[in-house]
Amino acid sequence: MVLNVIGYDNGDGKLTFRKDTNEICFQPPSDPLLARKMEALQRITKKLGGILFMSRYRSTSVHLLAGCCASSDASSGVCNSNGQVFDTLNSTTVYPGLYVCDGSLIPCSVGINPCLTIATAAEHVSKHLLQDALDYKSKDVDFVRGKPVEKKSLVRSWKSEISRGSAVLFKETMRGHVGGLPCAAYLKLKLNVRTTSEKTIGDFRESNPILQGKVSGHVMCSAIEMDKLYVIDGEVDLCHVDIKTPYTQYMHYRLLLAASSGSRYILEGKKVMNPFLFGLDAWKDSTTLHVVLRKISQHTSEEVMISLKGKLHISMIELLKSLFSMSGSGKRKFLHILLQSLFRTYISQVPRASQKGFTPLDPYQKNYPRSTLHEIRTEDGIIISCQQWKCNQGPQRQEEGNKPFPVLLINGYATESYCLPTESNDLVRSLLHQGHETWLLQTRLLGTNSSINMTVEASGMFDIPAAIDKISELHGESVKIHVAHCIGGLSIHIALMGGYVFYKRIASLSCTNSSMFFKITAWSKFKLWLPLIPVRHLSISMAIFGKDKSLPLFEALKASSRQKLLKSIARAMPRYERCTYDECEVLSGIFGNAFWHQNVSHKVHHWMNKEYLPRLNMGAFSHLQKICNAGFIVDTKGRNTYLIHPERMGLPTLYISGGRTLLVTPQTSFLANKYMKLHQPGFRHKRMVIDGFGHSDLLIGEDSSKKVFPHILSHIALAEKQNTAAFTSSERECQKDALSWVDDPYQDEGGFWGCASSFINAYS
Ligand SMILES: [Zn+2]
Repeated sequence: MVLNVIGYDNGDGKLTFRKDTNEICFQPPSDPLLARKMEALQRITKKLGGILFMSRYRSTSVHLLAGCCASSDASSGVCNSNGQVFDTLNSTTVYPGLYVCDGSLIPCSVGINPCLTIATAAEHVSKHLLQDALDYKSKDVDFVRGKPVEKKSLVRSWKSEISRGSAVLFKETMRGHVGGLPCAAYLKLKLNVRTTSEKTIGDFRESNPILQGKVSGHVMCSAIEMDKLYVIDGEVDLCHVDIKTPYTQYMHYRLLLAASSGSRYILEGKKVMNPFLFGLDAWKDSTTLHVVLRKISQHTSEEVMISLKGKLHISMIELLKSLFSMSGSGKRKFLHILLQSLFRTYISQVPRASQKGFTPLDPYQKNYPRSTLHEIRTEDGIIISCQQWKCNQGPQRQEEGNKPFPVLLINGYATESYCLPTESNDLVRSLLHQGHETWLLQTRLLGTNSSINMTVEASGMFDIPAAIDKISELHGESVKIHVAHCIGGLSIHIALMGGYVFYKRIASLSCTNSSMFFKITAWSKFKLWLPLIPVRHLSISMAIFGKDKSLPLFEALKASSRQKLLKSIARAMPRYERCTYDECEVLSGIFGNAFWHQNVSHKVHHWMNKEYLPRLNMGAFSHLQKICNAGFIVDTKGRNTYLIHPERMGLPTLYISGGRTLLVTPQTSFLANKYMKLHQPGFRHKRMVIDGFGHSDLLIGEDSSKKVFPHILSHIALAEKQNTAAFTSSERECQKDALSWVDDPYQDEGGFWGCASSFINAYS
């Protein structure tokens, strides 16, 4: 009987060739476990009643490994980790085109059948081999004739790159939660080594190579994987620049992780450093890594099996440890550049790129449907406009008697629009596609009128009823209308709850970031105190403004010296995100940022700033401030005359909030949804919080048509289907369940303004 033990050895065996005798000599590797193996074999033999004979060659292998070992440098191996054979004359370079790609580059026994390990190594080598072959081609090197080539370009081993530049090495430990599960990352960062990440065009990106590098180490998330998740490929960029937000500094981490179970994960992390209020949140920003951990399919990295979000933090102690652990020749230079970059972000606030050079390539309005503009005179004598798109196409829902109801869209105050000629899709076209005739109402708040009656209340009292009358005029009295809405959603609630529009004329209501409640962020509330917004008749800005309460936004428009002064105050106001467009800077100075720049396309941003809204009407602020202070709709005198009429809201509702709060908090939709479920349980009420969106980017965002509009469309479709059918008792039961929520799961306001909000709320 043959007994065989599989295991490790010291990997120090030698195979030599004697030239003089033509003999091949083999010196077996030393085996530290030999004594224990012998003991075990003795016991087995004894049990079996036999005698143990030892083979002459104690160490044997059926899969020969090593011989051309891979190593970090030429002193201890033949090739580098990519299988490229080291140049014997110059230890920092390799022989171009010469590779080892079989078991011989694996330096020692792997303890198990090495078939798959060999295959993996070969696959790894071939990946780089392919790239090198392409490099050769691009350099026009004659492969066949073997002309000398630039050897340097082929060196990919870390070691040689470090010797070329001045690498910096340090450790970083971060702890936190991913998907609610405790998670810790123990990383080693090697900066100023070449990364393979794709380069962004031109000078849009201004990251110093010394702030980019490779990451190794491991991540522990024992609720997901018992063992460590090893970083098998990791990249970091400590100053990533995004042209959409040129003032913001991002730190990007991307790690490919492998678990012993064979599972693969991708951890993507981002630190967002905004120059908000001279860096009040700088500490929090620079020590918080927002991460997404994805488990990916082993066959294709495209397929995501789990996706968890979370945050990891570096504590003060860990940060100090990182500083002390720092080594490498470029240490001082690295610290200098990093600090310089942080100074630029928070103190000097110099943009890293300019968006001004952007000119849209395609002409706007390409394929935009034709519309009719109706001028409507309201009861109080103001002319408002309403745009009508007749539905010609649409799916096969057009049979007689089953025609979808028209939809009335009501524009909000400033930075949102339902009609985006620059984009391939918007809400207007989505609705038309579903067969709905679509109307867009520009209320008096958007006009250049500077009439006295310029309040949110007046637009609900006169504008909305006038628009609905106009639609009924064309469709017959019995028509029902769907209403979708954004910030001026306050107006539609005033119209309904004030009894100016009878709820039975409306089939359903969808609101984004507004409702009968209006909860704004602490920072926006704080802004209402500042003299910039003309809220009281005696306020400073009222004095600056004079009679004309509209502010010309475009640079090209003439502004009086009063308006210029106000604009320069607005520009100086702190805000979350800054960009290089003047109009955007003035608007966000007044309101605060209305959208996350990352969510909107260049085209929309350019169009919004240069073509959409020439003047901003500031006359409605006085009433708006009363609403903001109350947290719900009140009349111009600040009295609660609307919320006391829930019986006037007998219709299905949908309230949508952005999950990445800006201006208006998700509480707005939470309270509205609760209110409706409590007072109108016979109708379908839904609330959505959409991840990653802020305020107006819900409507003008690049991904709105995928992530936001489907909710509105399905709400409208369901409302039409259930128009006649009443709720069954079980559905009614479900609706009541929802009332037991105590806290809004989406409420989140951290950092300095989180602390400040309780203070501001208490004193306003
Ligand atoms: Zn902007």
